[in-house]
Parts: sequence; structure tokens; C-alpha cells
Amino acid sequence: MTKLANLTLLTKLADQTIVMKADNRVGALEKRLKQDGFKGLVVSTDHLSELRSEYDRLLNEGGLDRDFYNEIVARYGLAWDFDPSTKLPAARSIIITAAQQPKMSMEFTYGAKKYYGIIPPTYVYDTDAAILRIISNLLHEKGYSINQALLPAKLLAVRSGLARYGRNNVTYIDGWGSYFRLRVYFSDMPCGEESWGEAAAMAQCRECTACVKKCPTKAISSERFLINAGRCLTFFNEGPDEFPEWIEPAWHNCLIGCMICQDVCPANKEYIRWLMPGGEFSEEETKLILDGVPQDRLPAQTTEKLSKVSMLDSYDLLQRNLRVLIENAGSGRQ
Ligand code: SF4
Ligand code: SF4
Repeated sequence: MTKLANLTLLTKLADQTIVMKADNRVGALEKRLKQDGFKGLVVSTDHLSELRSEYDRLLNEGGLDRDFYNEIVARYGLAWDFDPSTKLPAARSIIITAAQQPKMSMEFTYGAKKYYGIIPPTYVYDTDAAILRIISNLLHEKGYSINQALLPAKLLAVRSGLARYGRNNVTYIDGWGSYFRLRVYFSDMPCGEESWGEAAAMAQCRECTACVKKCPTKAISSERFLINAGRCLTFFNEGPDEFPEWIEPAWHNCLIGCMICQDVCPANKEYIRWLMPGGEFSEEETKLILDGVPQDRLPAQTTEKLSKVSMLDSYDLLQRNLRVLIENAGSGRQ
């Protein structure tokens, strides 16, 4: 073997060693998350420019309505940040995690009757801290850092192969349905070999239009894959304004968000009854919420119950959203 061939072989072996070491770290992280029932995948920050271009293209070609996008950015104070330089300048990888979550059912007493408000699986964020602790501990042991990333988590989950899109633009994980919450982090850990591909839809969607037929606002189309998010109930009941007149009161089905397209989805058939109690609110507490009593004047026990289901951040929406559910139940609309 010539010196040059030897050198090439050594370089290749050295490269392989780097990849293997990186793979070991990534493997350990994914394994550690799995031990606690979570899922996680690591991809390279090299994909950030591609993701940014994908979003720019959607906005420029009208696939994603720019006014709607701007409204979302203004409402939540969040814009995708595809540049990690301010958060973690040495970022080399993106960690995508998923935590299984049930629907929560909050029970309210009003006029001596019981009413129930559902919170969809993605809203309760108590698993975020557990996941962050696992990743931070493991990475810090190896001398790496982690930081929250403001990136499109659903798109990353789908492109990394962790999840698939449904026709309703909700993401699904094999064996978990859509009952999970995604999080995304930057890390300076190298990612080694990774899985990365085109955004893919669930195979079931080819033969199914259940969500198209059931969506009350006609936000889902069989003609195009992106839903019209500006017509989705979630957009309205997560926002502060009064509901527009074209939204029929009977369409409301959750305390926040909407579960109609997920409840009819065959990919969720094992989970639609996965409902956990999310706290009981007495007649007095229910009246305080319906009267719009400010959060800082609620009894401590009420605040605590709302906090357990991550509803304090959305407290200002509860008065309107709960009222419409109670009126629906009272009028027999649901
Ligand atoms: S209801 Fe059918 S079409 Fe809609 S996301 Fe589920 S499988 Fe796909
Ligand atoms: S969440 Fe509700 S309103 Fe939105 S697309 Fe699904 S069924 Fe339609």
C-alpha cells in the first residue's frame, strides 16, 4: 500500500472513529430518554438553512398565509429562529423529543350540574422539565451544552423520521398516535449518523378522509396537504378575540384547542379514550372563572389546580371558552 493510500485509510478510520463516538453519545441520549418513556432523535444543524428556505418558500408562494403567520408571531411573541448563534453559537445538533400525553378532563360545577372541559394532549407541559433534566445531565457529563430552540418542531419530527404528518397536519408517532408533545433543543454535541428525509404523511391518509369530512370549519382539504390554519378552531380559541359569527357554538369541543380531527382518526383508535382527570372545580371556583376574576385574585387552591394542567398561561381565555362549553351542554348542542 502506498503512503498516500495509507494516509487516506487512516483519515477514513479517524473520521469513522469520530462518527462512532458521536453515535455512542447520541445513542446513549436516545436510550436514556427511552428508559423514562420518552422518545428523542438528533439531527445536524446543517439542515437549518434548508428548513428556513422551506418556510420562506411556503410564505412567498402563499402555502402559508403571511398575515396568519404574522398574527401567530405577534400573539405568542415567537418567531422561528433558524440561527442558533445567539442561543448557542457552537450548536452542531438539534435534539427533538416527544413525551406521551393523555387528554385531560377538567370538571366544573355550575348551577349544581357537572360540566367537562377537555384539554388536548399537547397543552400540558409538565414533562418538559423532566426531559430537559435528562438531556442536560447527560450532556453536561460529556462537556456539552443545551439550549431551547425556537424551531418548527412538527416539521423537524417528520423530517427526522420521528413522526409522520396526518392530513390534518397533526403529527403522529407509530404506536403513540397523536397523543404526545414535541420539544426541540440546540446542542453543541456532534450528531454523527442521522436520519433525515422528505416530510412524509401517514400511509393511512391515502385511503382516508375522515378528518376532512368531520372538521366543522372545513379547514382540512383533500385537495392540498396544508390545512387552512386560519380557519381552525384552535386559532380562534387560543386567541383573545370574540369568536366570529360564522363559528357555530356547537363546534366547540375542548376548553382550548380542538380534538375533532384527532378523535375520528383511525391512527388514534387506541388512544381516544385516554382521558385523565385534570381537577375538579367547585361551583364557587367555576363562578370565579366565568366572572373573569383576575388570576391573582383566585384562591390558591384554584390557581394550583389550573397550574397542574398548565392552564394558568391560558387563564384569560378560560372565561370565554368555558362559557361556550357550558352553554352548549345546557342547550343540548353537545
Ligand atoms: S383521519 Fe384519516 S386522513 Fe385524517 S389524519 Fe387520520 S388517517 Fe389521515
Ligand atoms: S383541530 Fe378542529 S377545526 Fe382544526 S382542523 Fe382539526 S377538526 Fe378542524
